[in-house]
Amino acid sequence: MESDLEFSNIVSVLKLVEATTQRTVMAKALSSLLKKTPPQVIDKVVYFLLGSLRPDWEGVELGLAERLTLRAISMATGLPIKQVEDLYKRLGDAGEVAKRAVEVRRSKGTGGSIFDFIGSQARRKLTIGKVYDSLMAIAKASGEGAQDTKVKILASLLTDAEPDEAKYITRFVIGRLRLGVADMTILDALSDAFDVDRDLLEKAYHVYPDLGRIAKALAEGGEEAVKAIKVTPGVPIQPMLAERLSSPKEILNKLGGVAICEFKYDGERMQIHKLKDGTVKIFSRRMEDITNQYPDVAEYVREAIDAEEFIVEGEGVAIDPDTGEFRPFQELMHRKRKHNIKEAIEEYPVNLYLFDVMYVNGQDLTDLPLPDRKKILFSIIKPHEHVRHADWIITDDADALEKFFLNAISSGCEGVMCKSVKIGSIYEMGARGWLWIKYKRDYRSELSDTMDLVVVGAFWGRGKRAGTYGALLLAAYDPDTDQFYTVCKVGSGFTDEDLKKLPQMLEPYRIPHRHPRVVSKMEPDVWFTPGMVLEITGAEITMSPLHTCCSTMLKGDVGLAIRFPRFTGRYRTDKKPEDATTVKEIFEMYNSQKKVKLTDQAP
Ligand code: ATP
Repeated sequence: MESDLEFSNIVSVLKLVEATTQRTVMAKALSSLLKKTPPQVIDKVVYFLLGSLRPDWEGVELGLAERLTLRAISMATGLPIKQVEDLYKRLGDAGEVAKRAVEVRRSKGTGGSIFDFIGSQARRKLTIGKVYDSLMAIAKASGEGAQDTKVKILASLLTDAEPDEAKYITRFVIGRLRLGVADMTILDALSDAFDVDRDLLEKAYHVYPDLGRIAKALAEGGEEAVKAIKVTPGVPIQPMLAERLSSPKEILNKLGGVAICEFKYDGERMQIHKLKDGTVKIFSRRMEDITNQYPDVAEYVREAIDAEEFIVEGEGVAIDPDTGEFRPFQELMHRKRKHNIKEAIEEYPVNLYLFDVMYVNGQDLTDLPLPDRKKILFSIIKPHEHVRHADWIITDDADALEKFFLNAISSGCEGVMCKSVKIGSIYEMGARGWLWIKYKRDYRSELSDTMDLVVVGAFWGRGKRAGTYGALLLAAYDPDTDQFYTVCKVGSGFTDEDLKKLPQMLEPYRIPHRHPRVVSKMEPDVWFTPGMVLEITGAEITMSPLHTCCSTMLKGDVGLAIRFPRFTGRYRTDKKPEDATTVKEIFEMYNSQKKVKLTDQAP
């Protein structure tokens, strides 16, 4: 049996995905590709489609800057570097440059390039195995002379590549494959290709978010191998998420009369793993490894948690070193600058407020009800200056809940998290469900809560905004269809600085037509692959014939739109487009807002 796949197969699918505006076409193409891929390399195909060598949480990076990529193109094709750079200035896409350079050299032939030397011999056909292994070798090259080694490996790969192959390899290398093929899209394709229940795959993905690994298990060992995938310290699990409500009474009703309520701290969510060998890893809400930014927190948990091996969860909050009070979430951003982390630790100290435990000493606790998990959590936390359990109460009384909420707000928190204590109150990985309900301060204003929406298009500005975008087209996510539905066009809330940098920030996502995962009636001037997430407020949610959000839930050809939308200034870089506010949430916000209005109007 074949154990590799010619790379040209993947390229044809990439071309098709890039050209189509129809999701079904994209889905079909991906699933037939996976169907014909030999099990030995299916993980490599999946990683390539997703545009990264390994799951994001492993943090494997190629480390080849654009400039060096251009050098590799020159080296492979014999085209002088100056000419390659000029071509890049003209085309603005290193992938296109690689394609053209290979074409030119194929048609003319030059002297002196590796390309010509090989050209005279038979060029080998590239396979995904070869492409992936070379890219991995680029990522692994480190130490002195690493840059040269990386360039040489890439040049040699491009030497064997056909023009379109060179284009996609180059885009992959500079991190701009950006096809909008997301994890959920691959899950659908796998389920279709292998005819297995999507829920089974999704469950494995929650426990072990590595689609390459899941694809391989499925292709080699079938459903049983997928079922055997377990919670593993060192591998992030998908975080549990909360629904929202706007009154203590409703919350208690929904939770069956009684709940554990905790401060909702405004910091950074941390899923913290300690492995048997003593290594500590901290993962963000997006499951990125952020251990490097928080060496202090890693040390604190080593001291404060009494277990050899564990996975716990909490919120890291910036603290004012002089007063001990909470500082706003933005202060943690100073930790993102990797250099000078020592200084940042002193200037922006962090406390950790733990709220859950998912694994201790070989035991997966995610299926235990919350009260049992809390018992275990309390039993392993030792007194520590910087680590403790989140402030909490257990209550069946709406007034007590409201008092606790006000207490949280005045301490500088966003509100409270109310959690079910029922038998079934498991740690529900990757799900936004009613076991956790958030109650935030801004829910009590007319439009409850901010929304996190995805940029899918833009309109050019005029007058003062000439040369930049005047407004952005934003969409909400529907996990059921894995598509994005437009909900507003936003032009306010952007500072001059935002406006200046937006075109540049959005450039990597720019595509010539509507993305197949975007459903829109509007035709913006520019389309984007869903990627950037912005936080938005607004006056209210109204019905609108212009937008597609929730149109299947309403009568007539209307959708829901946000009236007077405004950018809050917060770029939600901690969220993937699939973490954006969902159409269902917008529908619920619309309904609860109607309820408020009706009660307001009552005599
Ligand atoms: P938001 O946009 O409101 O921050 P989100 O979409 O990021 O929410 P949610 O699950 O809706 O995620 O809200 C829960 C978030 O609140 C968590 O991601 C976590 O970072 C934070 N948080 C703060 N305190 C707690 C707590 N005690 N329990 C759970 N989450 C908490």
